[in-house]
Amino acid sequence: MARSASSSSSVITAAMASEASVKVIDGKKVAKDIRDEINAEISRMKDSIGVVPGLAVILVGERKDSATYVRNKKKACETVGIKSYEVCLPENSTEEEVLKYISDFNDDPMVHGILVQLPLPSHMDEQNILNAVCIEKDVDGFHPLNIGRLAMRGRETSFVPCTPKGCIELLHRYNVEIKGKRAVVIGRSNIVGTPAALLLQREDATVSIVHSRTRNPEEITRQADIIISAVGQPNMVRGSWIKPGAVIIDVGINPVEDATNPRGYRLVGDVCYEEACKVASAITPVPGGVGPMTIAMLLSNTLLSAKRIHNFK
Ligand code: NAP
Repeated sequence: MARSASSSSSVITAAMASEASVKVIDGKKVAKDIRDEINAEISRMKDSIGVVPGLAVILVGERKDSATYVRNKKKACETVGIKSYEVCLPENSTEEEVLKYISDFNDDPMVHGILVQLPLPSHMDEQNILNAVCIEKDVDGFHPLNIGRLAMRGRETSFVPCTPKGCIELLHRYNVEIKGKRAVVIGRSNIVGTPAALLLQREDATVSIVHSRTRNPEEITRQADIIISAVGQPNMVRGSWIKPGAVIIDVGINPVEDATNPRGYRLVGDVCYEEACKVASAITPVPGGVGPMTIAMLLSNTLLSAKRIHNFK
C-alpha cells in the first residue's frame, strides 16, 4: 500500500516551515481509502478462491472502553467484508477458559486473525495469553517472535503492530521522506513506541527514543525531522520542542476537562496542536489522525493473513 494521499505530488521536507503551509495529515481520509482498497481485494479473493477473511476477537470483562473498541472493530470488519467472530467472557473467567478459546480459533480454518482485547483482568497473565495466539494469526503483532522479526536486520516482518504501522503508512501516503532523516519517538511501550522506532529504523531513519527518564527531552526532539509521540500526556510537546519544518505524528489520546463540551471533556494529543502548527510542516490532528488508522491496519493485517494462509497473490 503506497498510494499518495497528498493532493500535490510534492515531497514534504524539513525545509517547508510556516504556519500557512502546515499540512494536516488526514488519518480519517487515508483510513477510508485503505478500507476501500481492502474491500476490493476481499471481493477479488472471494470471487477467485471463495475465501472470506475471518477475525476473532476475545473480550474479557466489562470495561466500557474495551467494549467500544471491540464494537468498532466488528463494525469495521463488516464494512470491508471480513467475517468477525466475537467471544465476550465475564470478568471472573479463568485463564484456562481464555486459552481454550484461543486454541479453538488457532485451529479454525475460517479464522485468519485472532485478537485479545487488552487490558485483561489483573488475575490473568497477559504474556501467557498473548503467547498462545499462533504466530500465523497474530494480526495484532504482539507475539515476541513478530516483534523479534521486526527488530532483526534482513528478516521479513510477519505482522506489524497496528498503531505504529498506521503511523508509517501515514508518512508514506503523504510522501514524507524517512530515509536518512532524524526521527525521535517519544514513548517506548511494546505496542506503540518501540515498534514505531523499529519501523523507522527499518526505513533507514536515524532514530532516538525519548522516555520518562530522558533528561532534557526537548533538546533531543528539536533535532528531529520526524516526531512520533506516544506518551499519554496532554500537550506535553510544546512548539519550542519542535524543529521548524518537522513532521509530527501524534499518537496520544488524552481526555481533558472541557465544560463547553456536552461530554464534559475533549480529546487532545501529546502535542500542543496550536503551537505545533506554527512550527511543523505537517501534523496529525487528535482526533482524526492516527486513531482511525489503527483499525484500518488491523483489517489490513487480517487480509494479509488470509492471503498468506491461502497463498493468494
Ligand atoms: P504506555 O504504555 O503508558 O507508554 C507510555 C510511554 O511514554 C512510556 O514508554 C513512558 O516512559 C513514556 N512517558 C511517560 N511519561 C513521559 C514523559 N513525561 N516524558 C517522556 N516519556 C514519557 O502508553 P501507550 O500504550 O504506548 O500509549 C501512549 C498514548 O497513545 C496514550 O495516550 C494512548 O491512549 C495512545 N494510543 C493511541 C492509539 C491510537 O490508535 N491512536 C493506540 C494506542 C495508544 P517509560 O517507559 O519510561 O515509563
